[in-house]
Amino acid sequence: MKDLNDILKDLPENVALIAVSKSFSTEEVQELYKQGQRAFGENRVQELARKNEILQKETLIWHFIGRLQTNKINHLLKIPFHLWQSCESLEMAKEVDKRSDRIINVLLQVNSAEEASKQGIPPALALEEYLKIQENCKNINLQGIMSIGAMSEDKKEIEKSFKITYKIFEEAQKYGAKICSMGMSSDYKIAIDCGSNMIRLGSILK
Ligand SMILES: *Cc1c(COP(=O)(O)O)cnc(C)c1O
Repeated sequence: MKDLNDILKDLPENVALIAVSKSFSTEEVQELYKQGQRAFGENRVQELARKNEILQKETLIWHFIGRLQTNKINHLLKIPFHLWQSCESLEMAKEVDKRSDRIINVLLQVNSAEEASKQGIPPALALEEYLKIQENCKNINLQGIMSIGAMSEDKKEIEKSFKITYKIFEEAQKYGAKICSMGMSSDYKIAIDCGSNMIRLGSILK
């Protein structure tokens, strides 16, 4: 695993690093833990449950960042995760809200690049959906916006998608949003320049 300081030393103070461990073994997670990393992200409920079980002794702060199927909600809720970053609709928020007996921290995922392959609400509908979730789901504590940058070689295209995300975040800030989660291994520097305060890095940490 990489020396985390190589990445941390260049991060602005307000930017949180989530280590995306979906392709890491539990030993590799432990290695990062020893380097001081606490926040980890997984995109599958099964794998999150497995790692959480094995790594119980460590105080890991789990983020769920993947597509959530309705039939996995109860399983997810049994795990003490910190933030569900990938809520993409009022409908899903309601499903989780209904089944949860505790307050869940949530980000609304926006498909800012409007790519068919991507999860997330279209940008034009995002703020309205954000407010509806806030209004309708008593167990959902909305904390901000998450997005994946445009899948492109063109820096301008990537930047454009992050700027769209940030605009929505700015609007949502009027309603209490605090987190703007964007930026992965290949594009996190661009994301930070566009206002991200939470990056999700996987492959670059290996
Ligand atoms: C896998 C994944 C990441 C990390 O991607 P890398 O390119 O490995 O840094 C970040 N966010 C989400 C939602 C992911 O699924």
